[in-house]
Amino acid sequence: MGWRIPLSDIEIGSGEISAVRKVLESNWLSMGQVTQDFEAAFAAMTGSRHALAVTNGTAALHMACLAVGLGPGDEAIVPSLTFVATANAVRYTGATPVFADIAGENDLNLSPAAVERAITPRTRAIIAVHYGGYACDMPALLALARGYGLAVIEDAAHAVGAELDDRKLGTWGDVGCFSFFSNKNLTTGEGGMLVTNRAEMAEKLRLLRSHGMTTLTWDRHKGHAWSYDVVELGYNYRIDEIRAALGLVQLKKLPQNNDRRRRLTQVYRQAMQELAPQVSVPFQGHPGVSSAHLLPAVLPHGVSRIDFMEALKAEGIQTSIHYPPIHTFSAYRDWGTQPPDLPVTDDVAAREVTLPLYPGLSEEEVVEVCQAVQRALLAEHSRA
Ligand SMILES: *Cc1c(COP(=O)(O)O)cnc(C)c1O
Repeated sequence: MGWRIPLSDIEIGSGEISAVRKVLESNWLSMGQVTQDFEAAFAAMTGSRHALAVTNGTAALHMACLAVGLGPGDEAIVPSLTFVATANAVRYTGATPVFADIAGENDLNLSPAAVERAITPRTRAIIAVHYGGYACDMPALLALARGYGLAVIEDAAHAVGAELDDRKLGTWGDVGCFSFFSNKNLTTGEGGMLVTNRAEMAEKLRLLRSHGMTTLTWDRHKGHAWSYDVVELGYNYRIDEIRAALGLVQLKKLPQNNDRRRRLTQVYRQAMQELAPQVSVPFQGHPGVSSAHLLPAVLPHGVSRIDFMEALKAEGIQTSIHYPPIHTFSAYRDWGTQPPDLPVTDDVAAREVTLPLYPGLSEEEVVEVCQAVQRALLAEHSRA
């Protein structure tokens, strides 16, 4: 269906097109110089020592789980209110994801107190997901990790360019994972990135990305190496030059796009306060500088979310849900020894609706969406 106001939208301009054309005309498409340039630029943007581009964000998470040593018998603490890939990545290694609750209706990130309650003798890692690009309480999570000897992986899929205390998200923990899927703030179609400050972690990730081989096709092409050894059970999780070229151009646009998203988020907060104050917009007054990836809204208790979303759809406004909690999925329902106790996740997730947010959205359209929200709630009220 042709939405009048879609949930998200991307802007691919002449810069991306000519960068991709240049790669195509170079006759070298697999990982090479353009990927190295993209990695260097990404490392500089985040202020991390090492950056490795990969085929997607899920691969980044899988590699991060392997690199911190997760395996059968281990547990990793994750939120349930995230994309399923966060927990799937733990399971790929044979380890068990253990769900911890979120902080509250205004802070949809992991509650450090809930994380601490979920720690057992088998816990090896915490995966901190920066929901919507808003920072988790990293000082508290790092303190827990130090106290209990745990690794910290950041799922920064939403948080490219976001900060807390002047430090980029993704660089707080042992390893940070980014996604460049087409609805993310920086897109290469499919793609991802790992960042770490630790040289031995970077080396391990480099091996995992490419079959555990000690040299790359690129090195051999450049005449740097004749043969190779295989020293790990690795994967093929490489990106390619076409997507790295896209990423380099998109990275240049990121600061202005994130600014625009933050500005539109402010407009949403103000318009919602005036037109539909019963609807809360989480992360009000949240610390740090968000990448404003999503505009989550939480409906009041007693409103039918389906009817609400249908009412917006009838006005040509696309909405979504972030997220159906992972512990409610069929593939996760029998997971673990007992049903997880996640009262805040269950309550908030059932009332969450994600509203349109992308740099090309106008401030007038934001007000239009909030007016449609107001009408949908009035209709709901008169039905009740
Ligand atoms: C998009 C996303 C992923 C997965 O990234 P892909 O690039 O689609 O594999 C993981 N975690 C979160 C929170 C995401 O939003």
